[in-house]
Amino acid sequence: MQCKERSSGSSTATSSAGPVVAMSDEMSVPLLPNAEAPDAPPPMAPGRPTVAILGSGDFSRSLAVRLVACGVSVVVGSRCVKRIAPGLFPDAVELKNQEGAVARADRLVFLALFPEHYPSLLGLRALLAGKVLVDVSNAEKLGRSRLSNAEQLAEMFPESVVVKGFNVISAWTLQTGAQDGNRQVLLCSDSVEGKNEVAQLARRMGFHPVDLGSLCFAQDLESVPLRLFPSWRGPVLATFLLFLFFYGYGFIRGVLLPYLANGHNAFYRLAFDLVNESLPAVALVTLALVYLPGLFAAWLQLWRGTKYQRFPCWLDGWLLRRKQLGLLSFLCAALHGVYSLCLPLRTAARYRLINAAYAQVKAGVEEPWDELGVWRSDLYLSFGVLGLGVLSLLAITSLPAVGNILTWREFTFVQSGLGYVALTLSVTHTLVFGWNFAFSAQAYVFYMPPSYMLAVALPCAVLVCRCFLLLPCISGRLARIRRGWESTRKCPVSQHHHVVANSTCPEV
Ligand code: NAP
Repeated sequence: MQCKERSSGSSTATSSAGPVVAMSDEMSVPLLPNAEAPDAPPPMAPGRPTVAILGSGDFSRSLAVRLVACGVSVVVGSRCVKRIAPGLFPDAVELKNQEGAVARADRLVFLALFPEHYPSLLGLRALLAGKVLVDVSNAEKLGRSRLSNAEQLAEMFPESVVVKGFNVISAWTLQTGAQDGNRQVLLCSDSVEGKNEVAQLARRMGFHPVDLGSLCFAQDLESVPLRLFPSWRGPVLATFLLFLFFYGYGFIRGVLLPYLANGHNAFYRLAFDLVNESLPAVALVTLALVYLPGLFAAWLQLWRGTKYQRFPCWLDGWLLRRKQLGLLSFLCAALHGVYSLCLPLRTAARYRLINAAYAQVKAGVEEPWDELGVWRSDLYLSFGVLGLGVLSLLAITSLPAVGNILTWREFTFVQSGLGYVALTLSVTHTLVFGWNFAFSAQAYVFYMPPSYMLAVALPCAVLVCRCFLLLPCISGRLARIRRGWESTRKCPVSQHHHVVANSTCPEV
């Protein structure tokens, strides 16, 4: 659950969070007073500017409803006004042909059309000169083309200003209001003035305009609505493959081989037991995968003696996916918790309990209290609950709304410090669950160790490597490297002795 998109200790606590809600503790105090003010455009001048919308489809209708609700005069330009059903637009909206609508617009003209229909507007070129054309279109498919829709529009209408924006806002969000949907309106344009005008209108509509720069960013912006969880693909695939591995391993070891060897039918374990065995193993390995790339990065920097060499692409990508891996680990751990709570509800469990009681009565055993067994079960349950609790904390702080009110140090403390605590608790939970079974021959049915033993190997290796990094001689060198020091092998200029003399080697 690492990987907050910040690069230094400076806080972005109020950057996009909007007004801070009333809270009683110090979290309610903005870290940067009036942080939105410096680059925010001044509020739109009161009055009723007239905005034109070309096209009378879904987007046009939703936009018109929202603009009218915000006190803006709207004129919709259609190829055929008569075709527009009565009552489709609010009464306050003027319906005109395209020329009439453009002529009525003060400055802003929204093109609520598909980009393939832009050439049909070429006849309005003279009328559109000097106006700000807002291109709300999206890309048809993912992948790069020579020019974005907005850049093509700018080529078609060189005397107009083209602003790309509002394409990530759905017609539904426009109608239901900014509170219920995504509040960010991403904008880009080569004209700062045009962008400011659209930004002011967006603000007036209750959205947060976000300036992404010049029109060359339009292609990325147009493909935003088409993306399907791009940052989740790798982590989800890794988690799924891990689940398949542990489930398959458990199936072969606990169901298939006993059936083939002894005819013992344990296929009923497929639906519940095996899932509940695989989930904690996946959670543990995935959590280790959150901290492993950080260790690779640290060892690489130590080995290279500098931080000024880029990490390999695979490591960069892995570092960027730690948050997703952490959340998936939390999901598996939470599911394991729920599955475990359901254990006593199973018919198989009730059946076994009654059988055990019957066998006990038959054998005349009165007090089967197993002191060691009781300690063991209490301990592993307790470590498991604590581990899940700390993991929940990590998951909550990885939410942007929560993470944004933490300072960088607080965030690192939670994600790195408490993250290792969660890993240690989860490993201890598994080790206590295994107890001394690892040393018993019965644990290795068909020469295969139980899946939790496989699952615990990587997390243990991660914890040991982390402990090595905490050794003062290693952590001191790493801290120096991260503050810009380079080993004499790497350093192009003779700053070596100077930096060492001034360094204070903070804790890693
Ligand atoms: P739509 O419902 O199909 O409306 C498109 C409008 O374009 C029609 O109502 C029509 O208006 C006009 N039109 C159709 N054929 C035309 C032609 N041959 N020449 C000129 N104009 C023509 O589409 P929409 O959902 O509103 O989407 C419009 C644009 O908004 C698209 O570029 C889309 O990518 C973008 N967008 C939509 C959403 C959304 O949620 N719907 C969200 C973000 C962005 P007239 O008949 O009145 O001229």
